Amino acid sequence: MIPKIETATSAEIKTFQEQKLMEVLRYVNENSPYYKSLFLKENIDIKSIKSIADLALLPVTTKENLQKYNDDFLCVPSNKIIDYATTSGTLGDPVTFGLTDNDLDRLAYNEAISFDCAGIKEGDIVQLMTTIDRRFMAGLAYFLGLRKMKVGVIRVGAGIPELQWDSILKYKPTYLITVPSFLLKLIEYAESHNIDFNNSSIKGAICIGESLRNQDFSMNVLSKKITDKWGLKLFSTYASTEMSTAFTECEHGVGGHHHPELIIVEVLDEQNRPVQNGESGELTFTTLGIEAMPLVRFKTGDIVQLHTDPCLCGRNTLRVGPVIGRKQQMIKYKGTTLYPPAMNDVLNDFDAIESHIIEISTNDLGTDEILIKIAVKHPSDAFLQELKDHFRAKLRVTPIIEFSTNELLKPLIFNPMSRKPIHFFDNRKGIV
Ligand SMILES: [Zn+2]
Repeated sequence: MIPKIETATSAEIKTFQEQKLMEVLRYVNENSPYYKSLFLKENIDIKSIKSIADLALLPVTTKENLQKYNDDFLCVPSNKIIDYATTSGTLGDPVTFGLTDNDLDRLAYNEAISFDCAGIKEGDIVQLMTTIDRRFMAGLAYFLGLRKMKVGVIRVGAGIPELQWDSILKYKPTYLITVPSFLLKLIEYAESHNIDFNNSSIKGAICIGESLRNQDFSMNVLSKKITDKWGLKLFSTYASTEMSTAFTECEHGVGGHHHPELIIVEVLDEQNRPVQNGESGELTFTTLGIEAMPLVRFKTGDIVQLHTDPCLCGRNTLRVGPVIGRKQQMIKYKGTTLYPPAMNDVLNDFDAIESHIIEISTNDLGTDEILIKIAVKHPSDAFLQELKDHFRAKLRVTPIIEFSTNELLKPLIFNPMSRKPIHFFDNRKGIV
């Protein structure tokens, strides 16, 4: 069920997207109070935007714009809104996204072609291990997409390993949709309850929220930990409420496939210029086919690398590599650009490290300083040296590393105000 455009040549995909770009610009110029006034203020004639390269003539849209002018982005009267979703709001106030009936159809189509990419077919049964309510768009999108594919869905929701296993053994699903680290909890539960998980009905898992791979697409520590014990295939999917579009891996696991009929993708540097081929930068997108809240050149804050070489699955669309980090968390250290996930990966390579935090501050010279605090059972100079050598080998720099204790670190990591463990503390001056 690969849409025709995805196997077209890159020149055909480009022409197709440019047609769609002109359509979306006409649409927002007529219907979006935000873009209408922006184009007027900036003196932009949308008829002059004809190619992907011309996008550079348009201003970018930031999360702050969206937060501040949320209602002005809405292109339809409120009685056309069927579903109200909100962003997670991890960085400030959540933003509301209304979806029309057509937007829900688009969302279903998006998930259907994404799941198809990961090999889910009619006849499969999928266990949905994410929330479907709480104004969460993705959970609803998964359900709608699977329904469109005529695939069975078991809506178990997040957490509760006992209920997950009960459901797996009873309904024999073939795929799971989950946060990958939760698979470790499922394994743990199965092991302590004598469930033969390697002979269960599960073939694969669609994984959201956490990376499965390193930048070269080899498996990272988390996915190795899972697959060392459980022989299931893991597929990464990357999406956000703002883009209402998913980038899901095919069986070859070389980045999430782009769907040209749904979204235009750019990767920009700090001056909002497209990066050179193969460089990393901020993922920026323009949505296609959205009625209620289309976005033009929206900056996600996610630093990624695009891959354009053809994929063995036959799709010629570009692919988005694993998220390298959040732009706000970028660290400039001794001439190298670093992101916290890369440091977490180095630390996770050592089973002896029981807990850790990474603190970033501004030093007397006004540049970034990194201090890593770790808790281990048997602190030694030899271990510290080994860890530093590993940092040098993997990231080319060695931060300052100090021994601490679980008693000191755990309360910082597991803050009751946060739903997720916190390992990164940004104490830099001038951070907004
Ligand atoms: Zn592929």
